[in-house]
Amino acid sequence: MTDNTEKRGFQTEVKQLLNLLANSLYSNKEVFLRELISNASDAIDKLRFKAVQDQSVYGNDSNLHIRLSADKDKKTLTISDNGIGMTRDQICEHLGTIAKSGTAEFFKNLSGDQARDSQLIGQFGVGFYSAFIVADKVTVISRSAEAAPDQAVCWESDGTGEYTVSTVNKADRGTDVILSLKEENSEYLEDWTLRSAVTKYSDHISVPVEMLETVKPEKKDDAEENKDEKEAETAEYTEWKQINEAKALWTRSAKDITDDEYKEFYKHISHDYDDPLVWAHNHVEGAQEYTSLLYVPKHAPWDLFNREQKHGLKLYVQRVFIMDDAEQFMPGYLRFVKGVLDSNDLPLNVSREILQDSKLTSKLKSGCTKKALQMLTKMAKDENQDNYKTFWKEYGSVIKEGLVEDYENREEIFDLIRFASTHNDNSEQNVSLKDYISRMPEKQKNIYFLTAATYAAAASSPYLETFKKKGIEVLLLTERVDEWVMNQVTEYKEKKFISVTASDLELGDLEDKEEKEKQESQAKENEDFLKKVKEALGEQVTDVKVTNRLTDTPSCVIGQGNQMMTAQMRRLLEASGQKLPDEKYTLEINMDHDLVKQLAQETDESRFKDWAQLILDEAILADQGALKEPARYVKLVNSLLLHK
Ligand code: ADP
Ligand code: MG
Repeated sequence: MTDNTEKRGFQTEVKQLLNLLANSLYSNKEVFLRELISNASDAIDKLRFKAVQDQSVYGNDSNLHIRLSADKDKKTLTISDNGIGMTRDQICEHLGTIAKSGTAEFFKNLSGDQARDSQLIGQFGVGFYSAFIVADKVTVISRSAEAAPDQAVCWESDGTGEYTVSTVNKADRGTDVILSLKEENSEYLEDWTLRSAVTKYSDHISVPVEMLETVKPEKKDDAEENKDEKEAETAEYTEWKQINEAKALWTRSAKDITDDEYKEFYKHISHDYDDPLVWAHNHVEGAQEYTSLLYVPKHAPWDLFNREQKHGLKLYVQRVFIMDDAEQFMPGYLRFVKGVLDSNDLPLNVSREILQDSKLTSKLKSGCTKKALQMLTKMAKDENQDNYKTFWKEYGSVIKEGLVEDYENREEIFDLIRFASTHNDNSEQNVSLKDYISRMPEKQKNIYFLTAATYAAAASSPYLETFKKKGIEVLLLTERVDEWVMNQVTEYKEKKFISVTASDLELGDLEDKEEKEKQESQAKENEDFLKKVKEALGEQVTDVKVTNRLTDTPSCVIGQGNQMMTAQMRRLLEASGQKLPDEKYTLEINMDHDLVKQLAQETDESRFKDWAQLILDEAILADQGALKEPARYVKLVNSLLLHK
């Protein structure tokens, strides 16, 4: 150690990560090569990008490459690149902390259950730290493209709590990552192990990966060989040989790319350990020229609903890497899509600011959105529905945001949505609007739905009674986002969405004439009774009416501001801490129910009041699952049961 050596502690999250790595990712240890080669390739991409502005950054070293070398005596494997390199400050920042937003929160979510955690950690992307899966000491020697040879930096750690940094000499620009392999990982010193891993992980990156090869000069013809045998033997030498294809995958023609190559490339850009669910590769020519290669991960990222979540595509311009996480090309509701966009039309010096308000950006965004939706639509139509089921489970509630966010593609998004429905006897979301419409009786003009807090509450809701009787299917929506979405969308293919809890429920031709007449005559006949109930309930209700939407239940309540705010919306607002004025209800009464008949017969005024209150409380309870004063309700029921 020289006197400029400094000892530093890792950020807490890094320590946690290193701990986990040692234990849980062991079965997947080969990933360290993918991560380190990927970092080397990123570093070279960054240098190339810089050179677009200023060729002089190449110095006398413009032959960019990644090199792998093993030293069997020292038991080290070195991954070298002549990319952008790191300064002392950068190395401390990049290799001592985790820069991702929400990292602390992520670690809080780990359960200690190894199988589950290692899956999560796979999605999190462990990057450089994966070196410690196979090495018990990692040394990084790096010289930034901007630093002099005596201003290189040496970083070293055994992956426990601390690392050291010191200033050293390095003749060439770039980074050497030297892994002192653990005893049991000596296979990574073997030529063939490395070669097969490298072709697997690196064929598709645009940088050559090289390994040393011993070259035996070709045997010359006998006469010559005899003449000069000795010299031929000594002429054996080693040489760096490129071992990967080194052609950016997306620039190749789709028909020449195998599924395995697509999958590997996905893992390279996403750091995911799992295969992708689907992908779509498109070369577009015409007004704009671009190539997009889009993927949907099998699992939603752990921070899908985190506002600061990094997302977006890897942006290239004319095959030069420009930036990661270019979120400008995908709408919010497709934020889980990963991939590459390579534009021929954007300027090479494009920045996030320029992208922000460029017309070209919005055209590219619209193109990429269409390609992504086509990919999803194709998956939805696939005979094998397993992938789509997985997709819907992971991303369904995000896709729904698109109904509000993306008016232009609304119809296509609607066709991707899957609902729970009264057609099923379970909570599975597998009904499309097309299915629903295909089952509609001719008389039915609207699409009926119910929003509720849970599937159980929705499925047993009294509001479904008439629909069940008439055999009309109702869509059951129980996710948080549903309430907001259903408030914004009005129709699909000229069919209106109608909440079954709406105050003036539009049944249209479904209403049968007899029923309507019966309702009207009942209302007339019981005018006095309804008035009496209303008086008994006082301020709590705005009106009391005869209903035709119930069969087995005595009563139901209709929220007042029903067009604006359903009961479910109200619950969500209240749960978020908003103060709302007390809800007033219209009480609807089922005149055919025995309890109501009994109430109508009641002559004792105070008992009439109690029964009326019971009928209202029951309706509120069925609608909301809770009462403001449950104790009062219990007392009331008890006293009525005891015939007091
Ligand atoms: P990620 O690649 O997802 O950013 P990593 O943990 O793999 O995360 O790497 C962290 C950072 O360290 C990189 O973003 C980069 O800035 C830096 N880094 C790692 N390896 C190299 C390298 N070979 N050359 C230059 N910088 C590197
Ligand atoms: Mg990385």
